[in-house]
Formats: sequence, C-alpha cells, structure tokens
Amino acid sequence: MINLDDPKKLVQLRDQAHQVAMNMLRPISRKYDAAEHAYPKELDLLAAMIDGIAESGASSGAGAAGVRRDDEEPKPGVRNGTNLASVMSIAEMCWGDVGLLLSLPRQGLGNSAIASVADAEQQERFAGLWASMAITEPGTGSDSANIRTTARLDGDEYVINGEKIYVTSGERCDAVVVWATLDRSLGRAAIKSFVVMKGTPGMEVERLEHKLGIRSSDTAAIRFVDCRVPRENLLGSPEVDTSQGFAGAMATFDNTRPLVAAMAIGCARASLDLTRDLLERAGVTIDYDRPAQVQSAAAATYLRMEADWESARLLMLQAAWMADNGKPNSLEASMAKAKAGRVGSDITLSCVELCGSIGYGEGELLEKWARDSKILDIFEGTQQIQQLIVARRVLGLTSAELK
Ligand SMILES: Cc1cc2nc3c(=O)[nH]c(=O)nc-3n(C[C@H](O)[C@H](O)[C@H](O)COP(=O)(O)OP(=O)(O)OC[C@H]3O[C@@H](n4cnc5c(N)ncnc54)[C@H](O)[C@@H]3O)c2cc1C
Repeated sequence: MINLDDPKKLVQLRDQAHQVAMNMLRPISRKYDAAEHAYPKELDLLAAMIDGIAESGASSGAGAAGVRRDDEEPKPGVRNGTNLASVMSIAEMCWGDVGLLLSLPRQGLGNSAIASVADAEQQERFAGLWASMAITEPGTGSDSANIRTTARLDGDEYVINGEKIYVTSGERCDAVVVWATLDRSLGRAAIKSFVVMKGTPGMEVERLEHKLGIRSSDTAAIRFVDCRVPRENLLGSPEVDTSQGFAGAMATFDNTRPLVAAMAIGCARASLDLTRDLLERAGVTIDYDRPAQVQSAAAATYLRMEADWESARLLMLQAAWMADNGKPNSLEASMAKAKAGRVGSDITLSCVELCGSIGYGEGELLEKWARDSKILDIFEGTQQIQQLIVARRVLGLTSAELK
C-alpha cells in the first residue's frame, strides 16, 4: 500500500514553517505588496533563525539553498532528505507569502545553482552567500540556449559582457550566478555559470521592474561591461563537452522546478483555506462525503479545485523525493512545475471568482494571491516549455526534433 502521509521526521519542520508563515509573513504581506521595492527588514530576524538551524546541522529547508543533488552513490533504503524537506517547508512559507519567501536572505535560486553544480571547494568558498540567478536576457527567455552574454578567458580571469533582465533578488543579493557562453559557435555546451560578487567593477544594477505580483521581491536588470571574475568562479567544469550538451547547466532546474511547484502549492492552499472559510460564513457547506454533482455549484467547484491541488502536490513530492534518492527526475520536475503552475493560477483566480466582491477587494488577500501565483507558471520555464520538455521525454525526442 502507498503511504501518502507526510514523513514523520519532517512533520515538525512543516509545522514550524506554517507557524512562521502565519506569525511572521502574513502580518507584513499587504504592507510590502503596497511598498514595492522596499526591503522587508523583518526578514533579517527570520533569516538569522534559519541560518542558526542550518549551522546546528539540521536542514533548514526554508528556501532554494537547501536543495542539492549528491554525487555519491545513493545509500540503500529510502531517503526523505533536503529536497523533500525544502518543498514541504516552502509550500508552508508560501501559504504565508510567496514574494517574502523569495526575498529571504541567503535562500536564492543562485544558491540552488551553487548547490547543484559547484565542486566541494566552491561549495565551501560560497557558503553563506545570498546568490541570485541571471539567465534571462532582453532577446532570450525560454530559449536559454541562445544567450548572448559572453565570458572570455584572459589570464586568470573571465571577462563577462552582456545584459541580464528579470533577476530575482538581483539588487539585494551578495552575488549573482550568471549564465554566459565561452564560445557561441560551440552552441549550448559552451554555456557555463559564473559566480559574480556584488560590487565587482563592470557589474551594475540598471533598474528594478514594477510587477503584477510578488511585489515585495526585487527584480533587477543588470549590465556587465568588461566585468572580470576569477577563473575559479566558473561553476563546475570549464571543459566544453559537446557530447554532454546543456546537461550541466540544466541540472539546476531539476532541483529548482519542484521548489517553484511548492510555491504554487502553498499560495493555492492559502486561497483554498480562506475561500472555504468565506463560503462557510456565507452558508455554503462543502461535504466531503457526498458526490460533487449533488452539491451546490460553489461547493462542487471547490471540491474540483481541491482534487486538482492534491494531484499537483503529489507530483511535487514525487519530483523532490526522486532527487533525494538519486533518481533522474527531469521529467517529473517538469510535470510537477507544469501542473502546479497551472493549477495554482487557476485556483487562486477561481477563488476570487467564488468570493465575488470580497475576493476582488483589498480587504482580503485573495486578489493578491491571484496576482502572486501567475509568475509561478512563468519563471523557471513557462507552462508551454514544461509541456514541451514532458513531451520530448515521453516521446524520446530531442530538442532539435520537437521545438
Ligand atoms: C517576476 C519575474 C522574476 C524572474 N526571475 C528570474 C530570475 O531570477 N532569473 C532569470 O534568469 N530569469 C527570471 N525571470 C525570467 C523568466 O524566467 C522568463 O520570463 C521566462 O523564462 C520566459 O521568458 P520570456 O519572458 O522571454 O518569454 P518568451 O520565452 O518570449 O515566451 C513568451 C511566450 O511564448 C511561449 N513560448 C516560448 N517558446 C515556446 C515554444 N517553443 N513552444 C510553445 N510556446 C513557447 C512561452 O511559454 C510564453 O508563453 C523572471 C521573470 C519574472 C517576470
């Protein structure tokens, strides 16, 4: 029999994350939605607590920094490790607020890139940094193999030139993990990632974007002009292995896509919980013991949304669990991201609809969650791109064969 309960050893972490979300994130959620680009200083205390937990040896699981893919042979038996811990606690934190979770110091997506691709020496050297991730460029979004930012080796340094846009935490972070090509003529295999410390001459934050949702999270455009970084800041191997293609750089996504799925799961759960309360207050009862089609239209819609939410959540758990157990999970990571991104947006907007004017007004957070959830179906690969990846994997086709 399949046991679908949360693993016992992670229940305390999950419950703590829920408490933090309720007591530390929810109370400041609206404040920083309104004060776009203001740094939520209340997060410093929370980040220090998370650092303390990580230093004590327990996995913090609060952000992208926790996830990793171990090179070692998986040990016998089943592991419920950092990836599962991260998705479970991120979902709870995003029940509190997605934008604030994305603003947590030292928990950026660049941290996940470092954890996924860096060697042991680099892991140690970059420990404790807050790292953002810069892939997207003015002419390149979904087609990340086409990036134009270049990295040229000159003595003991790489010289980086190019422009990156929509970098989450790009202004607040300590370092940016920048994707750049060593040689465009060699195609995607020549794309490598480089850790560029903030303050490095030649790197400049040009502007912050105004956005529909996750407004407490800063999103920066960054220009690199003859920006010199030590050669040992290239993550992973500097060799251009055309037989391996894009695999090294893409490995990060197998770890981060389940995290974005978790964000969507958490935000959608928040909408479902509040909507159930509001419906009950309006006299609509949701009965789990009777078929949906014999209940009111609102109750039937609610039950359908919850079933969709549950299936997305199970895909998220599966993808993270596979990463913990050393199983290739590219297919499952994309399935989880596609399903959770789509369902998350559908649910949060349907909750606004079900609650009518209360859903649309700023007196409740439902309208905010509908705005916040949309990005989760866009960044780290859009809905359409996830479906493309799933189709390629299922049909056994390459990216050249199915575009
Ligand atoms: C708030 C925010 C934060 C972000 N944070 C980061 C970050 O930290 N780091 C970073 O590098 N980037 C970040 N991004 C960028 C994000 O990853 C890109 O927006 C995303 O990859 C889509 O790229 P694009 O916007 O250029 O859209 P495009 O790639 O131009 O796509 C436009 C539309 O066409 C569809 N489409 C594209 N190709 C295909 C295809 N082959 N088949 C079918 N449909 C297709 C897409 O699904 C989409 O609907 C962020 C974006 C936002 C809005």
